Amino acid sequence: MPPSENSLSLFVFIDAFGWEILRTHSFLDDELPIRAPLETIFGYSSTCDPTILTGKMPRDHGHFSFFYYNPQKSPFRILRMLSILPPSLANRGRVRNVISRVVKRWLGYTGYFQLYNMPFRYLPLFDYSEKKDLYQKGGINSGDLTIFDHLRERGIPFYLSDWRNSETSNLQSLEKSLSEGNICFGYLYMASMDAVLHQYGTPSEPVKRKIAWYEDQLRKIIRIAREKYSELHLFVFTDHGMTNVTEDCDLISRINSLGLRFGKDFVAVYDSTLARFWFFHEKARHLIVTALSQEPRGHIMTRQELALYGCDFPGQPYGELFFLLEPGILLCPSFMGQSHLAGMHGYDPRDKDSLAMFAANFSPNPLPKRLDGLFPLMMHEAGLA
Ligand SMILES: [Zn+2]
Repeated sequence: MPPSENSLSLFVFIDAFGWEILRTHSFLDDELPIRAPLETIFGYSSTCDPTILTGKMPRDHGHFSFFYYNPQKSPFRILRMLSILPPSLANRGRVRNVISRVVKRWLGYTGYFQLYNMPFRYLPLFDYSEKKDLYQKGGINSGDLTIFDHLRERGIPFYLSDWRNSETSNLQSLEKSLSEGNICFGYLYMASMDAVLHQYGTPSEPVKRKIAWYEDQLRKIIRIAREKYSELHLFVFTDHGMTNVTEDCDLISRINSLGLRFGKDFVAVYDSTLARFWFFHEKARHLIVTALSQEPRGHIMTRQELALYGCDFPGQPYGELFFLLEPGILLCPSFMGQSHLAGMHGYDPRDKDSLAMFAANFSPNPLPKRLDGLFPLMMHEAGLA
């Protein structure tokens, strides 16, 4: 229902709070009687979030993984000098965080930026896909408008968390906004459960505690909202689930053992569940395809599979060949990290643990089936449909 005079539509995003986790925990059961699995989008939050905000599939909004081969336009050429850092320093997480912050500021990026475990010597071969803040005007690579762009264009007052801030600070700013009572649309962004799930896996005490904490915090928000508004439409949802990791797969050693030269014969990005390749000649392609077919814990994705997931990008900017690991197998070490994790996401979106979730205090029509169904719901709730 579009908003009436004194109604509030509140959308609450909780990163990685997947369907399997919701289904097995109690969470605002009385307030959110409608709850359903929500199909995720193949990729990581960097792929899913633009889909939530625009309703577009990855091939259309242009976002997927952070790093892609593009030496002509690489913003990292100047970082070549970092490759002289000794590995003991270069591989330390805290050192990388500081360097990421400095590089981000220097490049003027407003999006989420992290160098992760990318080898410094290879950085000049790559470009970065999330240079701009997704939540601000012009943040989507394709130029598509987000729900917030539409709200701004129409001058509708709304609340939007700052993803850079802590959950506590975002909850406080929402409370303030609610008690002023000027908004009719809110988007609360909470992302710290993702890290808890990566560290401890889904069946863990810290996850239970985190869910209980969210429940307490949201009860307080609901109470404040009901004091100010006669009608509250509450939606809680996520971008993807979390799969417990059962095994690590050292795919990098397998590829390195082929004797091919990185940057001369081929280029790869090793994400946490996915390896993406670019080939400079047929022999390299043949050797790598053969090596990958000898790894039973993953498969080379077909064009049809990528098309089905909306990841058939025109011009293949994110790689000519994708090798996806089976659910529960962590590509480790990878360009994203070098230590084992208890949980990971970015597997086959059809796997049960990959499923996102949708919960609400009434049943919208239609009920969103996949992440791209959230955008039309938000538009409708904002009276913009
Ligand atoms: Zn994550």
